[in-house]
Amino acid sequence: MKNILLLVGLVVFVLIGLTTYRNSKKEKPLVVIMMGAPGAEKDTHSSELSKTLNIPHISTGDLFRENIKNETELGKTAKELMDKGQLVPDSLVVEMLFNHIHDKGYDLTGYILDGFPRTLIQAKALDQRLGKDYNKIALNLNIDEEKLIERITGSLICTSCQTPFHKINLPPKVENKCDKCQSNLYQRDDDTKEVLMSRLEVYNKDTKPLIDYYQKSNILKDIDSNGSKEIVLENLLKNLEKNKKS
Ligand code: ADP
Ligand code: ZN
Repeated sequence: MKNILLLVGLVVFVLIGLTTYRNSKKEKPLVVIMMGAPGAEKDTHSSELSKTLNIPHISTGDLFRENIKNETELGKTAKELMDKGQLVPDSLVVEMLFNHIHDKGYDLTGYILDGFPRTLIQAKALDQRLGKDYNKIALNLNIDEEKLIERITGSLICTSCQTPFHKINLPPKVENKCDKCQSNLYQRDDDTKEVLMSRLEVYNKDTKPLIDYYQKSNILKDIDSNGSKEIVLENLLKNLEKNKKS
């Protein structure tokens, strides 16, 4: 009898040990933070990465544009600021984004953040949300300043499926028509040279300090974003792979 009890005890002990070990080895969901000045093509590279890694791409700029299209209260507030190249207040962005992540069930899958965080307050709010339950990496897309203006002012987006094009670098097959769905293309209201200047100023003042913040947390990787879409993607994947191993 005593032996049986001992045996049962041993089996239970081994099972508990195995489960604990397996859980500790279970991969945490990945959260990728895409950093970089306006014009570094965070949107293009985020959507490429999203397809490859099979996790959702969340752009706070797109969420605001959706609100503007649907004429919500938030959309009205955001449009006024966006048209001037200024930031939407932290509390509004954080609430919108976190609700979106929760509603879509993205807490479980992990995700790619494009355009968030943009201030220290937002970065801290994200850290608080993620705690230690996620693998975090910040990818900083570096691009030469003179290329920014050309990239931004030539940007075009599909009115229907949001596919990005570029007047010079990635022209559509038929002028002003989307290659994928044939809808019309448009230029964003804030993709003009004047608004870009103010977006860059805001970037340098509020967002650039986050590079330092993530460097100190040891999760920052610098990416050369001057090359083609394919080369940049390769670079991004290489850094993610390295991060996994370290
Ligand atoms: P880009 O990165 O090219 O500047 P986005 O589409 O990311 O463009 O953002 C467009 C605008 O939306 C920003 O200029 C800002 O007004 C607003 N916005 C987007 N994300 C944030 C954020 N995290 N915090 C504050 N404002 C934001
Ligand atoms: Zn389209």
